[in-house]
Parts: sequence; structure tokens; C-alpha cells
Amino acid sequence: MGDIVYFDNAATSPLDLRVAEAMRPWIGETFGNPSSLHGFGRRARQAVDRAREQLAALLNAHPGEIVFTGSGTEADNLALIGVATAYDPGDCHIVTSSIEHPAVLETCRYLGRRGVEVSYLPVDGDGIVDPASLESVLRPTTRLVSVMAANNVVGTIQPIAELARIAHEHGALFHTDAVQAVSKLPLDVRAQELDLLSLSAHKLNGPQGVGALFVRDGIELEAYVHGGGQERGLRSGTENVAGLVGLGRAAEILAVEMSEDAARLVSFSDRIIETLAEKIPNAYLIGHRYRRLPGHLCLGFRGQENEGITLLLELNEAGIAASSGSACSAQHVAESSYVLTAMGFDPIRARGSLRVTLGRFTSEAEVERFLEILPQAVASLRPITSHVLLSA
Ligand code: PLP
Repeated sequence: MGDIVYFDNAATSPLDLRVAEAMRPWIGETFGNPSSLHGFGRRARQAVDRAREQLAALLNAHPGEIVFTGSGTEADNLALIGVATAYDPGDCHIVTSSIEHPAVLETCRYLGRRGVEVSYLPVDGDGIVDPASLESVLRPTTRLVSVMAANNVVGTIQPIAELARIAHEHGALFHTDAVQAVSKLPLDVRAQELDLLSLSAHKLNGPQGVGALFVRDGIELEAYVHGGGQERGLRSGTENVAGLVGLGRAAEILAVEMSEDAARLVSFSDRIIETLAEKIPNAYLIGHRYRRLPGHLCLGFRGQENEGITLLLELNEAGIAASSGSACSAQHVAESSYVLTAMGFDPIRARGSLRVTLGRFTSEAEVERFLEILPQAVASLRPITSHVLLSA
């Protein structure tokens, strides 16, 4: 894509060439079904096992605690459905937050239609769940608490270790959707006492269509994909060997480079926030100033929130690929964001955020180019009042 500045790494991140290199033999001359007993199969099995070790090392998990899936969405589904279906619906209460990704929220609604009771925790103006609100909804039938490690729209980080502790004190399991967090924050399933954790390879400069669920030793999940019994019977289906090799290599690179990447991304985001304060007086940051993913900014422009799509198109014309919220809801771009609404934004302000997400390959020159272009693009937007009055 030549000179386009790609500031949408939360939607998907470009494949690292080192990951592509590791995958290359498996999309070329090397092949095999990991379940086959001959040499082809054994080599494929070894490649999958190695990927499992590499990913486990990143999370401080045991390799046997990693279940590979076809996406982050599928990992979330397996966690929630896998816990809930082990109980009678009437004997199962799940707690989640009101700003989860649809992969969790829609699964909760699905379970809700089948009689499982679900509580949705509120968030504050920064998008953070108050642990006291979790205390207040727990009950003897609470089997699972699922709160994301970091939000995909605003980038706010949740206090997952504290939430996990409270869940455990009440006998419930704790799941976190770490799809956004895993490439940016050090996660340690033992230190943070996590029971289940979902992730997705394409958010860590790995391939699309590959995910994983960490399942702590001793936790029994009910499978919902049945067949040949792969992945300890939790996710039948022949493994995507090339994809898994890519996920493993992506995890291995992250384990070495994450802290350096994160420091660079924080300095880039600080530079953006400071410059915007000088150059665009009506710009404001959405979400917590510090408890946020490195390189993840969600911006609003006071009085121009209804012009979100125009702004995105202008930026696109000028060679900047950003997002209005999350790629998963691009078709609903003109609607209010349920995440911002839950954070207390009124319906019009909740329509107009600009999500700018930097990544491993973001350069200083790209940040400077964005800072040149954005003020001009914002200056060309209409103020909200005329638009709202005309359409009222
Ligand atoms: N959870 C979160 C927080 C996400 O941001 C996403 C993707 O945007 C997903 C889950 C879904 O992951 P996948 O695209 O691998 O299905």
C-alpha cells in the first residue's frame, strides 16, 4: 500500500516478515496432518507442539494449557459456552462488562436466550470496571466472570488481577479476552491468577484466522465443536499448521521485543496527545490517560462528533488509514458506539470517535505526517450545531 500510513493496528496488524518466513515451508513444500503417524504427520505434530510451547512461554502457561482455535472470537465462544454448558442453565450466572467485544457480548446474549443469567457491569467515564461493582453482583450460582484485559475501542486497561481475585473468592472462574492486550502488555496467567484467556494471532503481527484459549490445568470445559478429538477434544478439526507456526513465532518475537516496542509506542502516543492539545483546541482523549494500551488512542473533536465518517474519509484521502471505533462494526459506523454510550457519552458524542492505533512498524516520520494532516482534516469539518439543527 505504498505511502499509506497504517494507523489501524487494533483492527489487524501487518504480518511480520519473520513470521511469514517461519510459515513459508508450511504453505509450500512441507505438509502433513498432525494426526498422521508417518513422518509427514510427525513433523507437522512437532511444528504444532513447538508453537504451543512458544505461546505458553509468552503467557507463563504450560503448553498443555493452550487450546488452539480458528480466531479470537472462537476462543471467547469456547470459554463462555464451555463453562456455561457444564451446568444447567438455571444454575449458571455469568458476569461480564458492558463494553466487551461482540465475541463476548453476543455469546452472552446467546447463552441468555438459553436461560443462563448474565449481569453486565457498568464502566466509569474512562471505560474502567470498578471491582466493587463485581462484588455486588456475585452470587452462589456465579460460575464465570469475563472481563476484557483492554478495550478494543478506547484502549483502556481493566484491573483484571483484582477482578480475578474477587471472582475466585466467590468460587467463580475468571476469563479475560486479551485479544487487544496480548501484544502490548505483559500478561502472566499465574501471577494474575487467570483461568481462561483468549487471544488472536492477527493482532500480534501474526496470521489471520488463528487464535488460542489458555485453559488453566484442571478446568473442565464442554466442547461445542465435535469430531476427531484434536486439541484435547475441545476443538476438533485438522489443525491449521502454517497458521499455528505463525502464531508461535509471533509469540516468540513478542516475548523478546514487547517492552521495547511498548516504550516506543508510548512515546509516540505522548507526542500525538501533546501536539493535538496545541494544534487542535477542541480535541479530547477518550478513555483513561495512562491506563491505556501503548499506541492506542481514541480521540473526539468537541462540537464535530457527528462528522466522524467525513473525517475518516478525509484522512483516507490524505493517506492515513484509521478507524472510527472497531473494524468489526464498520457497517454500523454511523451509529453510536455502545462502548462510548456505556462510558456516559450522549448519543451524538458517542458517534464521533477516531481510533488511531499504532503498531510495531510505525515510524516517527509517520507520526509526524499524521500530525501535519489531522489538524487540516479537522479544520475542514462542519460544526455540529448547524448539522444537528438542520436535521432536527
Ligand atoms: N476480542 C477483541 C477485544 C477484539 O478486538 C477482537 C477483534 O477485533 C476479537 C475479540 C475477535 O478476534 P478475531 O478477529 O480473531 O475473531
